[in-house]
Amino acid sequence: MKPESSLTNAKGPAVRVKSISQMDDRTLGITWTDNESSRFDVVELRRKCPCATCIDEWTHEQILKPEQVAETVRPLKIESVGQYAMSIQFTDGHKTGIYTFAMLRRLAHLN
Ligand SMILES: [Zn+2]
Repeated sequence: MKPESSLTNAKGPAVRVKSISQMDDRTLGITWTDNESSRFDVVELRRKCPCATCIDEWTHEQILKPEQVAETVRPLKIESVGQYAMSIQFTDGHKTGIYTFAMLRRLAHLN
């Protein structure tokens, strides 16, 4: 047993990313610590960027328009942020998006 239980909080059990793999040119695969696996379209991820430049912090309205993101955009670098999120640097130079695992799980379940 790893000391993970302290990460369980009011938002529910903390399911985390176990591994990330590039499934194909524009598909990112994530395996979760509960062994569920999800696939993400990288262009879709860029369009859903949750940073303050793309989403209005106060109104939560999306500032970024889907058509502003080229179909050719790809992740350049993915880094983990603490125990709860990852940041993705994209080929269009955008790298301020912090994708929390909770958000990615939500997205995965929408598909
Ligand atoms: Zn952004």
